[in-house]
Amino acid sequence: MRIRQLTIEPLCRFCIEVEDVTAATVVDHRRAHKGSEDLFFDPDNLQSLCAPCHDRIKREMERGKYVIRFDTSGWPI
Ligand SMILES: [Zn+2]
Repeated sequence: MRIRQLTIEPLCRFCIEVEDVTAATVVDHRRAHKGSEDLFFDPDNLQSLCAPCHDRIKREMERGKYVIRFDTSGWPI
């Protein structure tokens, strides 16, 4: 699943949102699976991220924090 996801989506999704091009190295579950096999194996629940975005932005989101990011024009996304 990891190889398939990184082949389909080789760039970090969060970086692309701010018009940055970064190779993805982490396959992330968009919605935490919390032991659910359906969510764990659902290919539509996967996204590709770079390690810094996964370890910083996604981790803050999972902790329930509201993460404000800005596009290249300075507008929040
Ligand atoms: Zn990234």
